Amino acid sequence: MDNNYVDLVLDTAAKVVASGAIAANGHGNVSVPVTEQNEMYFTAAPSLIGIGPEDVVRVAFDNTLLEGDLPPIQGAVVAMHTTLYQQEPATGCVIHTHSPYATAFAVAHRDIDCWIEALAMFGMPDGVPVAGYGPRGSDEALANIRAVLRPGLPAVLLANHGVLVFHRTPDLAIVIGGVVEEAARAAINASAIGGPVAIPGAMRAAALQRTMAFHEAGTQSV
Ligand SMILES: [Zn+2]
Repeated sequence: MDNNYVDLVLDTAAKVVASGAIAANGHGNVSVPVTEQNEMYFTAAPSLIGIGPEDVVRVAFDNTLLEGDLPPIQGAVVAMHTTLYQQEPATGCVIHTHSPYATAFAVAHRDIDCWIEALAMFGMPDGVPVAGYGPRGSDEALANIRAVLRPGLPAVLLANHGVLVFHRTPDLAIVIGGVVEEAARAAINASAIGGPVAIPGAMRAAALQRTMAFHEAGTQSV
């Protein structure tokens, strides 16, 4: 085990818990790849709350356990992570949770539309799609995930299950998990007062461009 990767996985898990975009029982898993070795470091505990180095395992991208103790029930979801690393080599972290509001959309088989600006700013101008149901980690579930992936899209809802987010870095993946949960929560609250309204298509690109303009200008307004 490389302690730098073990620490990175544990640090990421703790940040996910602190972000609040997670179910009360902490269910979920986090992975970080070592791309040049075709392997990843993965949390093998059922919950992200209170885990330690003994809960981190090394798994090859072909789903072979390389080091550590991986309970079968957790082994079943390994392939959700390795599929993403193989599909998109620039992926630097995958996070799976059952964050409650986003999971409500997954259970309802309802895509998240572009209801809040942050979705447009963080690579989800067309919202977040639902990948059809298959037993977790099964070939069918993986095919359903691949079927809804698009270049640059950093999140997928897993029908009747939860949420999968992924990005170049762990911190960005954590942000995505928070944005998806925030959008789902706002939409469900809005459903009590007429329902959420999507940002018009042309304005979604404008929201991203304005963010990039601010980024390039530093703290100055433009
Ligand atoms: Zn799950």
